[in-house]
Amino acid sequence: MLSGPGGVGKGTIAAALLAVDPKLWLSRSWTTRMRRPGEPETAYVFASNAEFRQKIAEGGFVEWAEIAGNLYGTPQPDPPAGFDVLLEIDVQGAAQVRENRPEALCIFVEAPSPEEQESRLRGRGDPESHIAKRLALADSERILAYELNAIHVVNDTLDETVAAIASLIEDVRQEGTANDE
Ligand code: 5GP
Repeated sequence: MLSGPGGVGKGTIAAALLAVDPKLWLSRSWTTRMRRPGEPETAYVFASNAEFRQKIAEGGFVEWAEIAGNLYGTPQPDPPAGFDVLLEIDVQGAAQVRENRPEALCIFVEAPSPEEQESRLRGRGDPESHIAKRLALADSERILAYELNAIHVVNDTLDETVAAIASLIEDVRQEGTANDE
């Protein structure tokens, strides 16, 4: 599981991990958030509140959380045989997954500095109120990540971050316990 506050580059890291690791399968989350201008249609399953609530009622999510006023959830993963599941989710979701899968590798990505995080958040064109909410959440997310014993990785240089995470995943595979990353 790849977790961390908004604006630390998790999406970019996840895409880079998939490029270097042919045995990783990225789960596609559901969200009630509006699609951002220029965001691919495939980034999420974009659902209405009613559709999302219906999916919860059917037990269709392995975890879900409300983040800055929007709902996000991971549907039951269905990877091809031999693949490990990569989840890019917030720490509340990671905590829920950990309850059922204590062996899952949990990585918490940090921005090199709060200024860097803020500038990355602004670069996405989100409303100012949303940016403020995400920045305010970062501290409590970090605390929860420590409680989860997540491995903290500072995303200073993309290449180094991806290499470090790829090697952590490989270590878990070697131990023979990797099912979800
Ligand atoms: P964004 O709106 O910027 O795409 O995502 C906001 C936050 O939601 C990010 O921290 C992202 O990791 C998290 N997120 C995305 N999908 C899921 C999910 O399925 N479950 C949970 N709990 N968080 C998610």
